[in-house]
Amino acid sequence: MSITALTIEEARNLLDTKQISSVELTQGFLDRIKKYDENLKAFLTVVEDTALTMANKADKRLKNGETTPLLGIPIALKDLFVTQGIRTTAASRVLENYVPQYDGTVVRRLKDAGAVILGKTNCDAWAHGSSGENSDFEPTKNPYNPAYVPGGSSSGSPTAVAADMCLGATGTDTGGSIRLPAGFTNTVGLKPTYGRVSRYGVIAMASSLDSIGHFTKTSSDSAMFLSVTAGKDPRDATTPEKAVPDYLKDIQKGVKGLKIGVPKEYFIKGLDSRIKIQTEQALGILERQGAKLVEISLPHTEYAIAVYYIVQTAEVSSNLARYDGTRFGHDRSHFGDEAKRRIMLGTYVLSAGYYDAYYKKAMQVRTLIKQDFEKAFDPADNGVDVIITPSSPTLPWKFGEKMADPLKMYLSDIFTVTANLAGIPGLTVPAGFIDGLPNGLQILGPHFSEELLFRVGHAFESEKAYWTEKPAL
Ligand code: GLN
Repeated sequence: MSITALTIEEARNLLDTKQISSVELTQGFLDRIKKYDENLKAFLTVVEDTALTMANKADKRLKNGETTPLLGIPIALKDLFVTQGIRTTAASRVLENYVPQYDGTVVRRLKDAGAVILGKTNCDAWAHGSSGENSDFEPTKNPYNPAYVPGGSSSGSPTAVAADMCLGATGTDTGGSIRLPAGFTNTVGLKPTYGRVSRYGVIAMASSLDSIGHFTKTSSDSAMFLSVTAGKDPRDATTPEKAVPDYLKDIQKGVKGLKIGVPKEYFIKGLDSRIKIQTEQALGILERQGAKLVEISLPHTEYAIAVYYIVQTAEVSSNLARYDGTRFGHDRSHFGDEAKRRIMLGTYVLSAGYYDAYYKKAMQVRTLIKQDFEKAFDPADNGVDVIITPSSPTLPWKFGEKMADPLKMYLSDIFTVTANLAGIPGLTVPAGFIDGLPNGLQILGPHFSEELLFRVGHAFESEKAYWTEKPAL
């Protein structure tokens, strides 16, 4: 087996027992990026020299008997993560030459843990989109079939993981940008609880929804990654003091005795019938492993897209106001169409006379959506431990299919935006293939239940190891 096909867990073991070095591993990934990324376009920037220097340093630490979950592990960063001395574009022409002077908290933590940064990955500009096609540079291709989108907005990170061009990669999830593309690329994607991971130094999209997560090949790898990035940050007031648990401790415990909620509003028309069947099969597997399935209702789901596209655009219009060309990058004429559309929509819903009708109303319904979940998890009510749904109503689509109709694109977020509105965590794991294209399963849980999500993900993977089915590049 080639070393690039390893998981983080396997590479960790080989590094700790000195069977491979981080330099060897890093060179393996750099070679693979050279070979395949010309076509896939997962990376916007590759930092070969920096990566090798970091790998050398990691090898020294390993030699001294040190270890951390990510020491010497080659990773990639979505180009929304601010990196000192490394160009950070948000995949927008506005920032095409922006080189930050500092590292964000997650980047700092990854570096301190000894992770090796290979480069910055492609995405929809400013994280606006569901397919990766809104990148102001070239769109990323789906590694399982280059005629199809890999999902967005984090398009490059999961593609890099699926194509074995790195062992893990960061992403951001404001309305599904980790969970949807994870499903489209046969990878594991975690959107942690709002506030679990610091947003400091990640270019903001919609601040009350932005959640900082990552892509890996397995749930265990995701747990290892989160153990490095999670925790209190004095620079982000939304991160609580709450201790970071040992995410691997109970991961093997299985699902026996767990109550899994299956929300009827997520199995409606518009859901591809093949995805419905595959989701039911996955639920059947968990049921045979000892979980109890309970039909539940999340009655305000039908308003989620409308609420999300009001709250989110309002916050986008405010966050993007700083890109006026005075401090960083080019001026506003360099914004792409989607960013302009959102700035206009957001400004409109916040303007005098419309604020009460749109923004305020949306915030009220947001509370109802949050309460739907609280009820489902409440032991005095449904009392489910987790909720399972498809991660997308459709399979990956062909390039261009939804570009002429933004509303069509927005509707693909129907199963993911609710978790952001409620602030709860979600994990997508591979659910299998349909017509050769990957499909994902979404596991949602109460606030700070990441441990449980990994446990369910791991239980499913141990029976259906879809992640071992590599794309033919
Ligand atoms: N697809 C959603 C949007 O376009 C979500 C984006 C995201 O999570 N960053 O807004």
